[in-house]
Amino acid sequence: MKVIRQSIKFDRKLLDKDALKVINVINKAGFKAYLVGGCVRDLLLNLEPKDFDIATNAKPEQVHKLFKRSRLIGRRFRLVHVMFSARKFIEVATFRSGKVQTANNGIVVRDNFYGSIEDDVVRRDFNINALYYDIKTQEVIDYLGGLEDIKAQKVHIIGNPKLRFEQDPVRMIRAIRFQTKLGLQLSDEIKSAIFEQAPLLGNISAARLYEECIKLFHNEYGFEVYERLEKYGLLKYLFKQTHKNEFIKKALLNTSDRIRKKQSVTPVFLFAVFLWQAYNERFIALENKQSCSSLAMTQASEEVIINQIKQVSLPRWLCTKIKDIWLMQPRLEKMQPKKVKALLSNPRFRMAYDFLLLRSMSINPELSEVAKFWIKAQQ
Ligand code: ATP
Ligand code: MG
Repeated sequence: MKVIRQSIKFDRKLLDKDALKVINVINKAGFKAYLVGGCVRDLLLNLEPKDFDIATNAKPEQVHKLFKRSRLIGRRFRLVHVMFSARKFIEVATFRSGKVQTANNGIVVRDNFYGSIEDDVVRRDFNINALYYDIKTQEVIDYLGGLEDIKAQKVHIIGNPKLRFEQDPVRMIRAIRFQTKLGLQLSDEIKSAIFEQAPLLGNISAARLYEECIKLFHNEYGFEVYERLEKYGLLKYLFKQTHKNEFIKKALLNTSDRIRKKQSVTPVFLFAVFLWQAYNERFIALENKQSCSSLAMTQASEEVIINQIKQVSLPRWLCTKIKDIWLMQPRLEKMQPKKVKALLSNPRFRMAYDFLLLRSMSINPELSEVAKFWIKAQQ
């Protein structure tokens, strides 16, 4: 394999000190360790990396022995987390190959093979994510043209796009996320392979997709991601009950704005907004059938959430909070003076009120009086 080693001196201040420490310890023990993946890519694009991952030729057990405060994680693929505080750790992964062993019937029976750096390069997803940085020589190591792609602002997939999306359909939503986050162009073959392979996303475990959804929408460009997922026909495999409206747009823009201002955000709000319309439609249908509206509300909320968790699993605490927000809407809309105090002291008031405010500014302009009422009530 041809390799390009390009000397690039990153400002030391931009590199994570703990990651450098880990690399130095592994190198001193006679192994090779590099920064890899998203951090190298982000540094080259002048962005602040989210985390600093390390790849090495040392086996997990060997890495584990080098660090007192480290632990082995993962069952199939063992990784090492070197702990620096209760919340901060550096992840070290041993080079591995993308080789799979299949039984006669084609089912994958083993895919956890360690390998060389050349193997490790090709099992990654995109060229821009397959760059390594040698901190000693201050060189970027590039086997596949990732450096050129970064310069040309392009994303190319490693290997055959159809096959690589088949092997792991989550790569399709990763492509959309990187395109949007990094402001890059997807190669034509990625685009057409996504259109073709989008339905495969339906086979991914609902638990994995929950994690991916947070990454998709809790950032500074959530609405663009939403629009692209829709355009490429991926959105319906995450949220089949969700259809774009002004409320969703406002909520996503609002979330991004909060993140820019370093304010806190919660997935509760996002899912409550995405499913609101479906909930309402179901509620109306049920209320027409039975006269008890509170029963209809509870039943509608449960049905919509059950449908959702078939695609993207939501933790139980999150579902409870979503229902609370929805069920509080009519109570806020009634503006009963006698209930003001109790509602204001309800722990869910803040979220339900924010929800109502966004509705009044988008799909329910008739609620502007109600919004004013609650703004005044809090003064
Ligand atoms: P970010 O952290 O900004 O989301 P990242 O590229 O670091 O981006 P991670 O999920 O942290 O993404 O993964 C680290 C690296 O592992 C990636 O850069 C890529 O090389 C590899 N990788 C992650 N997920 C996959 C996948 N589904 N298929 C192949 N390689 C992957
Ligand atoms: Mg990362």
